[in-house]
Amino acid sequence: MIKKIILEKILIVLEKIICYLDELTKKYIAKRSPIAAIHYIGSKFQDKLYNFSGQHRELAAIWKICKGHHVYDLANGTFKWVAVGIPLTLVDKSAPKGDIDLLIAVTKIIPNKQGVIPLVYRVFETKTSKIDNTGKIQTSPITERKKFQKALEQLQKLKDFGAQQIFLLDTYLVQAGYHENKKNKSIYASIYPEIIQKFEDIEKTDFGYITYFLESLKGYNEETSGGFEYWIPYGANILPTKNAFDALVSKIEEFSKNNENSGGFISYCYKCRRLIKCFPKANNLPDCPICNKKII
Ligand SMILES: [Zn+2]
Repeated sequence: MIKKIILEKILIVLEKIICYLDELTKKYIAKRSPIAAIHYIGSKFQDKLYNFSGQHRELAAIWKICKGHHVYDLANGTFKWVAVGIPLTLVDKSAPKGDIDLLIAVTKIIPNKQGVIPLVYRVFETKTSKIDNTGKIQTSPITERKKFQKALEQLQKLKDFGAQQIFLLDTYLVQAGYHENKKNKSIYASIYPEIIQKFEDIEKTDFGYITYFLESLKGYNEETSGGFEYWIPYGANILPTKNAFDALVSKIEEFSKNNENSGGFISYCYKCRRLIKCFPKANNLPDCPICNKKII
């Protein structure tokens, strides 16, 4: 009992020391950049996306990308709407199981002869891998290769479904602290051979390939700040669509039209079994505005 009380007291003192050090660091940062100091949270930092466990890590990564302005890059600057996590069975329950991770109605800047601005529906399949703060990939080359092959099968599934333009969003979650370590070289250097191999494989197909590196800034609030790098090396062909995809897109278009004023992103709640509008949270799946639960 006495041991427990002593231990608790020690922990309280340690916590106070950590808080004091956080405050000192914040003051030091504020001298150089008052704006950066606003986002500094010190030891409360958890590197949430890197440590995200569970089967929905891909979706969490997509929401993080959508939260930033990077969704504009994925749309080459302009879009009508963005949908995240849409089941292929949205219209036809007998459709193959699986989700479209990210679907963007990309608007072309120049109208056609009829004065209508044409749309291209871009779909993205996401794959995530982890790189620790020394630059080491956390899975073996064989496992990485298997994951890539599986992703290619997913892309083919989307093509069979009739999707118009299909990309692999190859996302590397980098442990916070990587860029602080001066011993580390460019992150590309450590995985360049692997990425080149993927280019060569995907170049032979109709699909496009995008590499993303997501690294949160150590000590800073992940909701309001974060580090990103991306690389868009190869485009994707625009394919003829099929009825199943057209029907799914029509349903989302109709939903988008009826909910024009509510803002946010389109998604799907598996509990309510319907399309919803919601706002992205960094590192977390959003809540459904109808049932108030996580959307999956
Ligand atoms: Zn719901």
